[in-house]
Amino acid sequence: MVLILLGPPGVGKGTQAVRLADDLGGAHVSTGDLLRAARRDGTELGARAQKYMDAGELVPDQLILDLVREHLAGIDPGAHVLFDGFPRTTTQATGLSEVLERSGRRVDRVVLFEAPDETIVKRLSGRRSCPECGAVYNTFFSPSRVEGKCDRCGGSLVQRPDDAPATVQRRLEVYRDQTAPLVSFYEQAGAPFERIRADRSVDDVYADFRSAMEVAG
Ligand code: AMP
Repeated sequence: MVLILLGPPGVGKGTQAVRLADDLGGAHVSTGDLLRAARRDGTELGARAQKYMDAGELVPDQLILDLVREHLAGIDPGAHVLFDGFPRTTTQATGLSEVLERSGRRVDRVVLFEAPDETIVKRLSGRRSCPECGAVYNTFFSPSRVEGKCDRCGGSLVQRPDDAPATVQRRLEVYRDQTAPLVSFYEQAGAPFERIRADRSVDDVYADFRSAMEVAG
């Protein structure tokens, strides 16, 4: 099954995708994670993507399509694939369909995760992480006991550059302008489509997500 998780940044798609990939035994493909790994590894792609990512803009379609094509080549063609944060433009969606067609596959299901802007802004702009041990906090929903310090190891908490408030606003605008049109793109293409309200607990959202997948078979 090829599944696309659509929705604004910070809606919790990644968390849901990791859980479903664990349950189904499939591959979770997050282009955001792949780009951050490229940056950490100091690759040319990572260097080219950096300025777009830090500004909350989309990395050019061609770079993303090359990245996804290369990544898919390493995944068993029969495996379940869960795309998270990809596609983000209609050019990427068309490119994905072409790549899938070449191996006799297609997009089997699209799930849209929705939450009010206010929730998204708090989830993103409140996010802090510990560079020492990887623990993640949220200043609104799950703050550390001492502000700016990790409960687990005492490390100094940091904010992702693209979670700064002005960049969060830009990421939401980019979502509305460039990614939200994919909803009608996939509806018109006739792909089975589900909407899930994501401003609830991770477990409640996952229960709906799981049952949507069972309906899908
Ligand atoms: P994410 O972790 O999915 O929110 O992605 C972080 C940043 O990586 C985005 O704000 C974009 O700059 C870039 N990015 C991730 N996926 C894509 C994509 N499919 N197309 C263009 N840019 C992307």
